[in-house]
Amino acid sequence: VPELPEVEVVRRGLETHAAGRRIDRVQVFHERAVRRHEGGPADFEAALRGLRIDHLRRRGKYLWFALDSGDAILAHLGMSGQFRIGAARTHPEILVPPADPQDGEQRHPHLRIRFTFDDAGPLLDFLDQRTFGGMQFVPGGAELPEPIAHIALDPLDPAFDRDATVARIRAKHTEIKRALLDQTVVSGVGNIYADESLWRAKVHYQRPTDRMTRPVAGSVLDAATQVMIEALDAGGTSFDELYVNVNGESGYFDRSLHAYGQEGRPCERCGTLIRREAFMNRSSFFCPHCQRAPR
Ligand SMILES: [Zn+2]
Repeated sequence: VPELPEVEVVRRGLETHAAGRRIDRVQVFHERAVRRHEGGPADFEAALRGLRIDHLRRRGKYLWFALDSGDAILAHLGMSGQFRIGAARTHPEILVPPADPQDGEQRHPHLRIRFTFDDAGPLLDFLDQRTFGGMQFVPGGAELPEPIAHIALDPLDPAFDRDATVARIRAKHTEIKRALLDQTVVSGVGNIYADESLWRAKVHYQRPTDRMTRPVAGSVLDAATQVMIEALDAGGTSFDELYVNVNGESGYFDRSLHAYGQEGRPCERCGTLIRREAFMNRSSFFCPHCQRAPR
């Protein structure tokens, strides 16, 4: 599942390859991809025709296309969403013949939405095998789309307030991992980077936030920020082949993971075997020696 670093890698790719281009045509091939758009596929296609993409912006795991009309296309990758630039040209092997020969063009079986521009440059495709991702047109949303206005800033946002976030964490009566995953406390941190941050900070995932000192809560947050910056530099983490950048390449941060997915392997600090436990319907990976359970 893409988290902040993976989405930021995609945002940067789109900023490079899509910003400044004017949309000529949008085709929706699967209605689930625009299920959050009230007017449905035809309305989504019509709303975007002729608009220029000014910038690509992101908050947490959401990204949006800021349009010259002041509107936005809000996008979420879900479990398996991919934006691909020019894939039809550079990766012909991923194309399959259309089900209906009258369609006249080849397309990938997971292709959900296609953008064609008024220039001669490459197409932009949105592929999504499991269709948990999608897009919606948000009128007036170029600065900040209303559907995500309640989401907290993420640690890589220039306006991120570290001390205020530490205070928000300590004001919660919950476990630290639950607070890290709460998108109204801090956005962009998912299961992978939560486990990595807690391992780095030597904090057990169930430590009660209201009994944490300011330095300890701060160290967890700083670790989260650091681990996500490093993951971004590595092009993100690729666990299941589904996450790729706009050129179809996967990142390699999974080689740098110390806790997540490391069950049964020795902790790199102390040699104790990394343990996995169920938490919040997911897995939590931690070192039982470095990250002592709360009493
Ligand atoms: Zn350890």
